Amino acid sequence: MTNTSDGTRLVNLWDDAKASAMSEPSRLVYRSNLLGSDKRVTNFGGGNTSSKVWQSDPLTGEPVEVLWVKGSGGDSASIKLDGFATLYMDKLRALKKLYRGIEHEDEMVGYLPHCTFDLNPRAASIDTPLHAYVPRLHVDHMHPDAIIAVAAAKDSRALTKEIFGDAVGWLPWKRPGFELGLWLEQFCLENPDARGVILESHGLFTWGDTQKQCYENTIATINQAIDWFAERNSGSAVFGGAIVEPLDAPARHAIAARLMPKLRGLISQSGGKLGHFDDSPAVLEFVNSADLRSLAALGTSCPDHFLRTKIRPLVIDFDPAKPDIESVIERLPADIEAYRTSYRAYYDRCKDADTPGMRDANAVVYLMPGVGMFTFAGDKATARIAGEFYVNAINVMRGASSVSDYVGLPEREAFGIEYWLLEEAKLQRMPKPKSLAGKIAMVTGGAGGIGRATATRLLQEGACVVLADIDSQALDEATADLSAIHGADVVGQVVMDVTSEEQVSAAYAEMAVAFGGIDIVVSNAGLASSAPIEETTLALWNKNMDILSTGYFLVSREAFRMFRAQEIGGNVVFVASKNGLAASPNASAYCTAKAAEIHLARCLALEGAAAQIRVNVVNPDAVLRGSKIWTGEWKEQRAAAYNMSTDALEEHYRSRSMLKRSVFPEDIAEAVYFFASERSAKSTGNILNVDAGNAQSFTR
Ligand code: NAD
Repeated sequence: MTNTSDGTRLVNLWDDAKASAMSEPSRLVYRSNLLGSDKRVTNFGGGNTSSKVWQSDPLTGEPVEVLWVKGSGGDSASIKLDGFATLYMDKLRALKKLYRGIEHEDEMVGYLPHCTFDLNPRAASIDTPLHAYVPRLHVDHMHPDAIIAVAAAKDSRALTKEIFGDAVGWLPWKRPGFELGLWLEQFCLENPDARGVILESHGLFTWGDTQKQCYENTIATINQAIDWFAERNSGSAVFGGAIVEPLDAPARHAIAARLMPKLRGLISQSGGKLGHFDDSPAVLEFVNSADLRSLAALGTSCPDHFLRTKIRPLVIDFDPAKPDIESVIERLPADIEAYRTSYRAYYDRCKDADTPGMRDANAVVYLMPGVGMFTFAGDKATARIAGEFYVNAINVMRGASSVSDYVGLPEREAFGIEYWLLEEAKLQRMPKPKSLAGKIAMVTGGAGGIGRATATRLLQEGACVVLADIDSQALDEATADLSAIHGADVVGQVVMDVTSEEQVSAAYAEMAVAFGGIDIVVSNAGLASSAPIEETTLALWNKNMDILSTGYFLVSREAFRMFRAQEIGGNVVFVASKNGLAASPNASAYCTAKAAEIHLARCLALEGAAAQIRVNVVNPDAVLRGSKIWTGEWKEQRAAAYNMSTDALEEHYRSRSMLKRSVFPEDIAEAVYFFASERSAKSTGNILNVDAGNAQSFTR
């Protein structure tokens, strides 16, 4: 993401050869994807594009004019044809007769579905009238940093004139809706030669007679602003200059690792939050500057920005020259409470009889001099995107304050958008969160058979999952596979040997910076070994003990430390073995280590209960499919022990079980999910055998 003042221009990416072969709607998709591919042109999900296209009416066969406009939700960079709403233009025009004035404009949204062309299920967005009434074939509405920097300056009207002359007009702030659509129409009729218009505190409208012309007009208009800022800003101190030096990158990360679980705990009382850390140069320049506090207090400007970031961030007091993280942690509860109190006061000042109930009063964005920015939200993508939006807002403040005074949106207008009934309706339509939404899980041995199946199950339920494994190649493969299915935001990986104290503690620190903390630890890394006692070497004995006993201790100890820092409970599940309960021939090292593991879980259940930390055990048996244990020596040794071929083993174990059923990795994963979720909220210190029935391992 490039800032507005470094003079980097946008590149015209239009390719005639590609575009000429496309239908008009496909060209609209192409244009939208090009525009959305650069965050300087528009932020994630922000802005929209449209085209008016003549098509044959499915009922009459007559040609009709159809508005194709980006529908509700979605992002320009990745939008496809089905992301666009299609509406009859004659019906949209007829809506003007029904319009009863500004105080009733929200009711117009209810008429939009009546204008749908061709039964298109994509809901039309609140911005639809803005596109419908601009009397041009192709219209772009973007949120470019360089343009919002103009739009959010105190004298934005004069600046618009200075930069663009009469080519680009200016309209005062107006919440998007039917009225703004009529304003835009009037502007276009009165200014037929204008190629665009800047909306105060909001963004840009541009248009063209062809898709290409529209795209090129948008890019050229933004570039004109970028050039103008570059000329005006050469050499001037940004944000009043730096007043603190940033810490080096490892020190910044170490502080983030300490602070994020604390922060997360303090703001997750009413539902788990996911965190994101950004210490990019653009963020550091802002948090280290003289103007940090005064600009942050003004709040963000573009409606899209503050819907994602809340109107104001929380600035954490910290002097990187005398880094005293302990006192930051001590003050944190009071700082957070003060923010909530001011948010409640803002809500009480601005609410009226129709206002929906107050939403979460915690800040989304936390700024720390010398360190960077933390953002928190109900899911990882939203936390990351909130951070990206605040970088957009920083860019806007940099531009606006370098040429004028930056102004945030008036408080009441901001509130009006935040608690807009239409916005509330959108929130109400959101699907119910999944059972592990807002949770962060670590699965050790995550690249193995049971680990992967467990990660999949937890991801399906909405958790973010960090796979931890000693085998980096298998880890890369597992991460790539799971990311392809569940999205890169929710899958993390860390190479970690569970027997190494340093690696375990570094892995937790990494996870805290990547996601904000930890809720669920599935300790599952393991191996299997077989040897009669006389042939069991000390090395083999120690290996079993190191991984299955010491390793489980180290992983749990670090989990407990982070759980206690967060103070929101915690959940540990050990994947032990039937062999931890039932003696098995020629496997004393493995069986004993697994028994130690099970007893460790009981001890930890006892220690953790007062802090709502639950610890339970799942005991698998004979899970051949997907397991790496069952591809090596172990399989051959077991087959030899039973005097059969390796191919016959699965059937052997099936018929040996009481239920005569095979056990699969997914069966273990289901049991782990049960213990990791609220479904077992009242269980701790328990053991669940998933072994298709084995009398020897009955617990007593
Ligand atoms: P697997 O071999 O497919 O997976 C185990 C994973 O642990 C591997 O990816 C491996 O790289 C990793 N690992 C090994 N040593 C490690 C270390 N020091 N640090 C970090 N990671 C390490 O085996 P699986 O069948 O998926 O087994 C998972 C767990 O289930 C193990 O604890 C195993 O003892 C237990 N178990 C399995 C069975 C079975 O029949 N598969 C039966 C009972 C218990």
